[in-house]
Amino acid sequence: MTRPIYLDYQATTPVDPRVLDTMLPYFRECFGNAASRSHAYGWEAEKAVDEARGKIASLIGASPKEIVFTSGSTESINLALKGAAEMYGSRGRHIITSQAEHKAVLDTCKHLEKQGFEVTYLAPDDKGRHSAEQVAEALRDDTILVAIMWANNEIGTLNPVREIGALCHERGVLYFCDATQAVGKVPVDVQADGIDLLCLSAHKIYGPKGVGCLYVRRRNPRVRLVAQMDGGGHERGMRSGTLNVPGIVGLGAACELCEQELEADATHSRELRERFEKRIFSELDHVYVNGDPEHRLPGCSNLSFAYVEGESLIMGIPDLAVSSGSACTSASLEPSHVLQSMGVGDELAHSSIRFGFGRPTTTEEVDRAAEQIISAVKKLRELSPLYEMVQEGIDLSTVNWTSH
Ligand code: PLP
Repeated sequence: MTRPIYLDYQATTPVDPRVLDTMLPYFRECFGNAASRSHAYGWEAEKAVDEARGKIASLIGASPKEIVFTSGSTESINLALKGAAEMYGSRGRHIITSQAEHKAVLDTCKHLEKQGFEVTYLAPDDKGRHSAEQVAEALRDDTILVAIMWANNEIGTLNPVREIGALCHERGVLYFCDATQAVGKVPVDVQADGIDLLCLSAHKIYGPKGVGCLYVRRRNPRVRLVAQMDGGGHERGMRSGTLNVPGIVGLGAACELCEQELEADATHSRELRERFEKRIFSELDHVYVNGDPEHRLPGCSNLSFAYVEGESLIMGIPDLAVSSGSACTSASLEPSHVLQSMGVGDELAHSSIRFGFGRPTTTEEVDRAAEQIISAVKKLRELSPLYEMVQEGIDLSTVNWTSH
């Protein structure tokens, strides 16, 4: 049986074989605990961890001491938001975030609300984007933290991070940026971008699952966090627990490759996405791009196929691995909270599919995928009385099929 064509690179990515090769010795002979100070096994592991720390820091313009290893972005987000809220809660109890954030941020904010913090959830514009002016208007004297993501995982919209970072620094408010989807895909520089806390995750950048890190600024200002995990005081007390050495080595290798190949990767996935969308738009009408065509992750295409139900379309393309909305919420029948926050109507939200193109994707795969989608959409529309009415020129203005 041939495996489906994988077009879900925002959900996760395969481990790059070059990354795997660097990890393997740390499962075998180099199995030491990086915290063992008394023998060569420990020293070897510690050295590998230090090297990885340097590679990650280099990719995002940080210093190695500012990297705290975690199990991935969900944990990093919890540590950043809860850790900062607990540390600075006596200064103020107001946090600003976006309605379009990942659930890891939204649910952590809900947790903080229960602890007595007040959270403002900004609505993005109809392309899923925020402006620094909008954040400025929401800032209050008691605001301690702004959490606005770099790149949205469902629609790929890129926020004006540098402007938001500059604003936060000017106003003395910490800026946390969820860069899980952005790192390795677009240039990230925590210094120039004015970011105080940033999360990234290995499995989104051709590294292994279950490992990531939190960048914690050490200067101008020095950010302090209350640890969320008590134990042996690893990672300068911010995250106790024996380090996942093979995973960390893999994350380091993945970051090194991203730094070397960022431009080539971005060009590759952008060209594939353009080819894909061109094919789709030349054969199908009533298809809408969700997201910001001008500020979008190169390898992400979220499309709504009006008059077609997303889940039926996914069933009609069994040879393609795609997702409707994000992997975490696609199990529920609720329309995507991201599309809802942008004002996309429920019908169009239910007819949306996210396509992702990555390092291993080929033009041949893209062409085959586009063909299958075109044919499935045409078939499903043949069964749609609404589509038939539109073809006959009947006014459906009472039905909410508008793009936004
Ligand atoms: N934030 C964003 C934007 C994501 O896309 C994801 C992954 O789906 C996460 C956070 C959570 O990352 P992890 O799987 O490393 O916990």
